[in-house]
Amino acid sequence: MPKENLLGYTRPQLESMFAEMGEKPFRGRQLYKWIYQVRQNDFAAMTDLSRPLRDRLAERFVIEPLQLDHRARSEDGTEKFLFRLADNHPVETVLIPDTERERATVCISSQAGCALACRFCATGTMGLIRDLTVGEIVGQLLYLRHLYGNDCFSNVVFMGMGEPLNNYQNVVDSLQIMLDELGLGLGAKRITVSTSGVTPKIRKLADTGLKVRLALSLHAATQEKRVRIMPIAETFGLEKLIESVRYYANQTRDRVTFEYVLIDGFNDTMDDVLALSRLIEGIPCKINVLAYNPVPGLPFERPTDDKVDWFGRQLYPRAPAVTVRKSRGRDIDAACGQLAARKNGRGVVYES
Ligand code: SF4
Repeated sequence: MPKENLLGYTRPQLESMFAEMGEKPFRGRQLYKWIYQVRQNDFAAMTDLSRPLRDRLAERFVIEPLQLDHRARSEDGTEKFLFRLADNHPVETVLIPDTERERATVCISSQAGCALACRFCATGTMGLIRDLTVGEIVGQLLYLRHLYGNDCFSNVVFMGMGEPLNNYQNVVDSLQIMLDELGLGLGAKRITVSTSGVTPKIRKLADTGLKVRLALSLHAATQEKRVRIMPIAETFGLEKLIESVRYYANQTRDRVTFEYVLIDGFNDTMDDVLALSRLIEGIPCKINVLAYNPVPGLPFERPTDDKVDWFGRQLYPRAPAVTVRKSRGRDIDAACGQLAARKNGRGVVYES
C-alpha cells in the first residue's frame, strides 16, 4: 500500500491521528511543528519523538514536499516556479519582490488549471485539471521558505492558477495552517483570497472568522459587460455578488479590494468609471487598476500607459482608494492572467 503523505494535515488532524494511534495529542503538535516550521521531511530526524514512534510513523507515512520542475527569473526580479505534482500535472507559483517597500508577495495556485474560462485568461484556456490538495497549496510556500528562508515573502495572494473558492475546503484548511502560529505563522491581513465571484462561498468564508483579506476580480462594472468576459457572471449575477462582498467587509471589518484589469476599448471609458464608482458606493474598499497583459491567441489588447493613467485619475476622486499597479514579470509570462504552465513563454529559458 502506498504511504500517506502527511503534508497538508492540519494541527487538529494530526492530534486526532496520534490519539487514534494511542499516543498523546501533544505529539501531534510536535510533528506539526516539524513539518511546517522546521520543514523536516525525515521522521528519523525528529528527535523529540521516541525512536519506536518515529519508526511507526515511517512505516505508514511520508512527508513529501513539492517537486520543482523549472524556474525562471524576470528582469524585474520576479520569479516563477513551475512545480510538477505527483501525478505529473504542472502548477505555478510566482514570487514578486518589492524592493522599495522591502517586502515580497507570493502568488500561489489553488487548482491545476481552472474551470471558469474567463475570456482574457491564459489559465482559463486549460480547463480544470484538478483541485490542489492542502499539502500542494501550503507546499508552494514551504518550498520558497526552504529555498530562501522564512522572511522571503511577507504577503500571500491566492491569485495564481485556479479559483480558490471552487476548492473551498482545501483552501480553508491551508489558511488554517498559514495562520497558525505553530504552522506558518502568517498574519490574516497578509493573506488575500482572490475570487472571480463565487457568491455563496464569499459569504461562507466571511463566516469562518479567519478574517483574511478578500479581493474580487471585477473587471467590468455592469452585469451586461461582465458576462461577456467572465462566464461565471451568468451563474452569480453582479448585484448579489456585490452584496456578498459588502457582507464580507462588514463581517471582517476590513476593506476589500476590487481588481480591475483594463482592457483596451472594452472597459476603459468614462461610462465605465462612473458605473464602477456607483457599484462600490458605501463599501470600504480599494480598487487596483491593472493594464491587461495580452495572451497570444486571445482577442484582447493592452491599453496605452496614458489610458491607464487617465482611467486611474478619473476614478481617484470617486473611490475610497485607487492604485494603478505596475505589471510584474511580463517577460516570463508570470503576470496576472498569464499563468498557463508553458515551459517556454516567449523564448524564456527556465533554470532547473
Ligand atoms: S482569471 Fe482566474 S478564475 Fe478566471 S479563468 Fe483565469 S484563473 Fe480561472
